[in-house]
Amino acid sequence: MRQRFGIGYDSHTFGAKRPLKLGGVEIEHSSGLTGHSDGDAVAHAVIDALLGAAAMGDIGRLFPDTDERWKGADSIKLLAEVKRRLVAASYSLVNVDVTVITEAPRLAPHIEEMRNNLANVLQLPLNAVSVKAKTNEKMDAVGEGKGLQVFAVASIGGA
Ligand code: MG
Repeated sequence: MRQRFGIGYDSHTFGAKRPLKLGGVEIEHSSGLTGHSDGDAVAHAVIDALLGAAAMGDIGRLFPDTDERWKGADSIKLLAEVKRRLVAASYSLVNVDVTVITEAPRLAPHIEEMRNNLANVLQLPLNAVSVKAKTNEKMDAVGEGKGLQVFAVASIGGA
């Protein structure tokens, strides 16, 4: 099996009047993330990491934000579709590692549920799914709480 790696990145601003959703978990906060879909930046970064590992494009190409079909879409379902496409292309998932950077809210109480959701949709054991959270030490726009950033790395095996 040849091992491949991909990197994913996403950022969304706060300000939407809807629940904050990360890794499929609804998290209590003063506002949600803006965006065409449900704004789940964790799911989006993982999608791009997986697509990157397979050199199969990116989330914007697969689910264009000009397409009404993806308006308010449940991003965990988009992630499931990406997983399906990778498996159809004879890739197997190895692991994913995610870092969320946000000043607020505190994500520690939600990390395990995010890991569980991602492991379920990706059909990976829990020890192959890592989610970490940190602040930006009050620096720059993320540090001022204007939005959040997510980095993800995925490893896959296959052709
Ligand atoms: Mg996004």
